[in-house]
Amino acid sequence: MILDLFICGPGYGETIICRWEEEGRLHAGVIDCYGPNYGLTVYDWLLELEISQLEFLCVTHPHLDHIYNAYWVLELLEGSVSQLWWWGGLTPDAYIVFCDKLAAACGGGEGRLRSRAESVRRLFIEIARQEQKFGIPLVRTSARIKQLYPIPQTTNPVLKITAFSPWDDSLMRFTKEVVSSIRVGGKATSDESLANLACIGLLLQYGNAQVVLGSDIEASNWNSLPDAFTSSLRPCVVKVSHHGSQNGTCAGMWSMSGFLCNQQPQSPIAVITPWHNVLPDEKVIKQIVGSGSTVFVTGQKNTNGRGRPWLSYVHVQVDGDQGTARVVEKSANVVVYEPVPPLS
Ligand SMILES: [Zn+2]
Repeated sequence: MILDLFICGPGYGETIICRWEEEGRLHAGVIDCYGPNYGLTVYDWLLELEISQLEFLCVTHPHLDHIYNAYWVLELLEGSVSQLWWWGGLTPDAYIVFCDKLAAACGGGEGRLRSRAESVRRLFIEIARQEQKFGIPLVRTSARIKQLYPIPQTTNPVLKITAFSPWDDSLMRFTKEVVSSIRVGGKATSDESLANLACIGLLLQYGNAQVVLGSDIEASNWNSLPDAFTSSLRPCVVKVSHHGSQNGTCAGMWSMSGFLCNQQPQSPIAVITPWHNVLPDEKVIKQIVGSGSTVFVTGQKNTNGRGRPWLSYVHVQVDGDQGTARVVEKSANVVVYEPVPPLS
């Protein structure tokens, strides 16, 4: 049994597709969606991968690099997305007002914030429209540790997905900021990083294999994870959180005995998507390779120095029987950092 994971990060933005076979047909889901060209970049790629319907679309948090044009993709897949997962905490309307205020507070010249407000607003409008027309997507939010897939829960699911973030304190810190900016006279600050506190982190369990998708989770949410959860982690793949920033890690996480490695004979494959030219942080890459993991960084400059294509990805095949994973394909501008010390 094989689960295909396609982790795309062109230099700014992140889109993850997972695809597996169940009852003789392909199933698929998308985690975060950065879709330039009216979402066609993502939509056309899905069709190329023979995916025309989704079990779920997960938008982990309201940052442009994770939700840009997700509404267009939802519209292109009209009536074919079964579930929509988002971060919750407040109503969609509250986040629409917040994003609008944020865009206004930062001045008309901030195209990125305007796009963010627009992407959040139109996503929620599109969800409501399709819910009314087709009865789907089923909308779900996350909090603490919560099984999101499958629904209805079956005793022996092929793929089980559990959200492990956001946690109360972090989510409340973000929602408090949102609420205070919405109040009359309130003003949104330009501290965009607060939205990372609302991030949904996902654990995929596929047979004997585990995959951790870290979104842009920062230390406060990592530190909230209960021991019973972290001690059971044995991931063979980790999508490194927050584009490989130091904020995206917590103490000891990336070490042989840290909870992402847990003394496994084979440390997990680590994939990093970059953020502009700022992230990943070299120190984080060093920590990860030091734990015995191979690191794949997408979206690096091609040697010819020309622009970076949108489709810069790593294709990982996860073997559910063996509980292992291997990279079977990667774009030309993916840079690989070998483990230090190398595994024998
Ligand atoms: Zn991000």
